[in-house]
Amino acid sequence: MGQGTGWEDIPIGGMIVEAGNAVRYQTGEWRAFRPVVDQEECTNCLQCWVFCPDSSILVEDEEMVGFDYDHCKGCGICSAICPFDAIEMPAETTSG
Ligand code: SF4
Ligand code: SF4
Repeated sequence: MGQGTGWEDIPIGGMIVEAGNAVRYQTGEWRAFRPVVDQEECTNCLQCWVFCPDSSILVEDEEMVGFDYDHCKGCGICSAICPFDAIEMPAETTSG
């Protein structure tokens, strides 16, 4: 056997051991691109809310009001699906 790390040495990662515990995983820390909405272009059709796989589109009174950046992992689906090109995906910065 050669030296180095094999798959057996990798520590166990995130586990789903109870329903709903995924909310505690701050998947936003993975993000390389950050969704930013242009409220002037947004018509509140809420298609982004329907398609977001992380339930990270924030809605109040039936209006899209922003993103849950603790859990949005920057997949860009909301930007791709928006029929009004209201969401851009600039690169994430370390300054937040
Ligand atoms: S899909 Fe686009 S227009 Fe529709 S609510 Fe989301 S950001 Fe607004
Ligand atoms: S980038 Fe992905 S995870 Fe983040 S709000 Fe858009 S669809 Fe949801």
